[in-house]
Amino acid sequence: MTEAYYYEDAYTRSISAVVTGVFNDSVTFDRTIFYPLGGGQPGDQGFLNIGDDQIMISDTRRDPKTREILHFFAAPPEQRSLLAPGARVQLELDWSRRFRHMQMHTAMHLLGALIDAPVTGGQVGRDKSRLDFDVGDLALDKSALTLQINALREQSVSLEFETVSERVLDAQPDLIRTMSVKPPRGVGDVRMVRIPGIDYQPCGGTHVSKLEEIQPLMISKIENKGRQNRRVHLTFEERE
Ligand SMILES: [Zn+2]
Repeated sequence: MTEAYYYEDAYTRSISAVVTGVFNDSVTFDRTIFYPLGGGQPGDQGFLNIGDDQIMISDTRRDPKTREILHFFAAPPEQRSLLAPGARVQLELDWSRRFRHMQMHTAMHLLGALIDAPVTGGQVGRDKSRLDFDVGDLALDKSALTLQINALREQSVSLEFETVSERVLDAQPDLIRTMSVKPPRGVGDVRMVRIPGIDYQPCGGTHVSKLEEIQPLMISKIENKGRQNRRVHLTFEERE
């Protein structure tokens, strides 16, 4: 199974790896820094460098059956032959895209902490993201939320990551009740993400290490998706 090096260090932009499998349009390695699509966060893009050759990786996904991390590529036959099991390659992330995903993804945790309602869905993007809530009677205010999320973002807070067994989590029903995302079942160990004083929940995505790294944010739109459901749209507040 591929070692998910993005959990060791989400900031590694380039790493050497060995090809373990080559398929029609995808390749697997002994380890990777490419995050596979999941939890509302897109799969990474980037390059494979093999000597003087470069092959583009357009997407990263887990194989639904084997759970292997597949790196999707399109390469002409002469380049394809460079990818054989045992070959050593240098993986290189599209870092600017991934770093924006890390900021947006972490901002979703902040948004979830600000809105006291169950999360029903979400999608992280390079420029914009959204989070859906079952708000009940709770009223949401776009400008108030924009101020609040930026106030959190400016705090000098470092994220903490830990692995906890399901059994330990089961022994803390009160803790689980307060989580907007419930821990997965039947997986053994659960990766937990803590933003001290703000949020604590199971999460398999990639995050910034300090809140201050997140660029200024803006709640751009709050959409009605049925009587009790609201879709909150988040963008970077980018000034020209
Ligand atoms: Zn997360």
